[in-house]
Amino acid sequence: MQVLVLNCGSSSIKADVLDPDSGARARYARVERVGTATCAIRVGDGAEQALDGATHETALAVLLPRMLEGLTVGAVGHRVVHGGERFTAPTRIDDALLSEFEALSALAPLHNPHNIAGIRAARAALPGVAHVAVFDTAFHATLPRRARTYAIPTALAAEHGIRRYGFHGPSHRWVAERAAEFMGEDLRQLRIVTCHLGNGASAAAVEYGRSVETSMGMTPLEGLVMGTRSGDLDPGVVVELARRGIDPATLDHTLNYESGLAGLSGVGNDLRDIEARAAEGDDACRLAIIVFAHRLRKYIGAYAAVMGGADAVVFTGGIGENSAEMRHRVAQRLEFLGARLDEDRNRAARVSLEKWCAEISAPHGRTRLLVVKTDEAHAIGRDAARIAREADVVEGVLRIPVAISARHIHLDRRSIDALFGANYELTPRSPLSQPGQYASEERLTLIGPKGEIPDVRVLGPERAETQVEIARTDEFKLGVDAPVRGSGDLASTPGITLQGPKGRITLDHGLICARRHIHMTPADAKRFGVEHGDVVEVALDTEGRDLVFGDVLVRVSPHYKLEMHVDTDEGNAAGLGRGAEGVLVHTEGAVRLLRRKVAFDA
Ligand code: AMP
Repeated sequence: MQVLVLNCGSSSIKADVLDPDSGARARYARVERVGTATCAIRVGDGAEQALDGATHETALAVLLPRMLEGLTVGAVGHRVVHGGERFTAPTRIDDALLSEFEALSALAPLHNPHNIAGIRAARAALPGVAHVAVFDTAFHATLPRRARTYAIPTALAAEHGIRRYGFHGPSHRWVAERAAEFMGEDLRQLRIVTCHLGNGASAAAVEYGRSVETSMGMTPLEGLVMGTRSGDLDPGVVVELARRGIDPATLDHTLNYESGLAGLSGVGNDLRDIEARAAEGDDACRLAIIVFAHRLRKYIGAYAAVMGGADAVVFTGGIGENSAEMRHRVAQRLEFLGARLDEDRNRAARVSLEKWCAEISAPHGRTRLLVVKTDEAHAIGRDAARIAREADVVEGVLRIPVAISARHIHLDRRSIDALFGANYELTPRSPLSQPGQYASEERLTLIGPKGEIPDVRVLGPERAETQVEIARTDEFKLGVDAPVRGSGDLASTPGITLQGPKGRITLDHGLICARRHIHMTPADAKRFGVEHGDVVEVALDTEGRDLVFGDVLVRVSPHYKLEMHVDTDEGNAAGLGRGAEGVLVHTEGAVRLLRRKVAFDA
């Protein structure tokens, strides 16, 4: 299947017809300076042709027939900048969804309206194929609350949808995946700082495959210094300028189009020109370069702190891929992280769609420095093809039993010895739904900095590693912060003190808030059309408290029995009783469409 990928920006349109598996281009075209007198189109490497004064609509009317001539396209992937709270995964587009995107335009006035123009034109040109929206914000839907919340009054934030969303998602995800591939490691084992440095620029902390921090915020204006955008700024400056009579539209224009490298250097937003002028001694250009590098270094250090370290720092985007000088300035002071730049490798690094990664760190460092070629069109095309292929999945409504898993403890041998006495054996009390598992007679007290919870049940049999699973409400009682994790995924988790009849131990890790999940056998997985590691939505139909749970992890093993587990908070929120059942959520009216998020999200 070939996929058409459309990326309609504020002043440009990028279009690619590509193979979603290999990324090979059958055709590509670019329209520049849309909406101006000098608008022009270039198809492939051909000459530029004038489209004087073309708008997005008129440019697309020229572009689309030329892109599609003689080619068969099975799906269209549309870049949509802002998905808001509602869209956290690639989504098939229909009329109802289009109106929802329009409502979201207020959040991204520079981008979403143009994305929508592209969707309308492409649906008219290709009515018979699946059109899929791929959101810049979606990869960052996993940001924890502490990272996505601004410290302003909660009611104000809620009223206006003010929170960190993050952007450049397809690029951050793509280069994190490529970096893991280059390193020969599982992305789920890595902590990566990805730096997308193009005309727009953002950094992200990608911890075990999930975005946990990113520098762009509610809008793509926050964070790094960019080509024409200021990035971080004391909010008091904006207030003060407004007070001095600068109107919002002028402020918006100044911060989005006249700031950043352009505003500091005075010679425009292209780093190539700025570097050339700096080399000739231009002080404004030198300042632009060092402010850019300083800001980025600050973010890399901060994100290493957020993740408790970094296994790799990835540079991508026009600047990250091409400017050895900027990489040198940023990386020369990252030795504290265990990242040592190899100057020869840095100078020699060249990346392309064929040779997409180059290492620029010296061997044997703790943190590797990589240059990775981003390919947002391929990332979007891959998602679009996946959704198009899944569109005809899952017949019939299959039900999943849902049970509450109350706070509990799994113990390893060392902990059992310390808490109950040497060679103590747990006493099975009642079997659990999963074969071989049981609730034991034994109970322990959890002790946190703020409070204690007595009589917490120990589950058997003995495990390889001690793990304590609590609910959010318990965190407040104990005064601890437990990350949401799948069972056994204990790296970088906090510890807790356990009191038993024969002793007390303080774990240095192992405390989690269990991620809601479904246990199923391979045969169940086949029936539901899901795979191990998929993340799905499950709707619960209960007495007066119906609820749809997102972010439900699918766990497949021949040793499991079909059952979904939620914790007490989640169960209470849904008014869950005995014998409750859920169904996988399907969208798009009569079409049974399973919304499946990225597989590595596990
Ligand atoms: P992007 O938005 O990812 O296409 O990046 C565009 C920006 O990358 C340009 O505005 C330049 O500032 C920068 N860039 C591209 N090539 C080079 C280069 N060889 N040296 C320095 N900067 C470059």
